[in-house]
Amino acid sequence: MEPTPERIQEMKDLLEKKSGKEVSAAEAEEGLRNLVNLVELMWDIWRRDEKRKKRLETEPDGFPLEGGYSCFICGQSGDIWYDKHGYSCQLCLAARKKRIIPVVAYRKKEAWYTMFDLERFFGVKSATVRKFIRDGKLKARIVLNEAGKTHYYLFMIKDNVGLLPAKPKSYTVRNGASSSDASSHESGSPSEW
Ligand SMILES: [Zn+2]
Repeated sequence: MEPTPERIQEMKDLLEKKSGKEVSAAEAEEGLRNLVNLVELMWDIWRRDEKRKKRLETEPDGFPLEGGYSCFICGQSGDIWYDKHGYSCQLCLAARKKRIIPVVAYRKKEAWYTMFDLERFFGVKSATVRKFIRDGKLKARIVLNEAGKTHYYLFMIKDNVGLLPAKPKSYTVRNGASSSDASSHESGSPSEW
């Protein structure tokens, strides 16, 4: 879509009004082209999403997706299956079918922690977490690979009530000191650890 002189002028007026500064025609044209590109990209994504959802009507069990997607649960890319719950790698899909991964895990990332989260949020190393699992102190949902080894751990908050707090919205650790922007979240450390 080529920007017309009228559209460029409209963009120039708009940018000048917003910024309170003079904007050249070239700058206005660039701004307009960027905007058009963004809208076209969003349109393409929307159309692709709609097409995919439509396809589920005839293929309710889902279908494989070509390239560029990753598993919503473990983040692995390649060989991704799409169904009404979202994007899954083959291992997470199999675990979900066996109800090892509850479907709520797809809807709400806040409903569970990853191994990485436990270290990031509470400073607990994975070796310690694995010991807690072995000792029965922490309940993990374990996704296995074809060799029967651990592919991925999920720690559902509902499985660990009283131990895992609600998930902080964001969290940063600096120089050993923790801070969180989730004010309702107190120490950031499960009390029994
Ligand atoms: Zn996965």
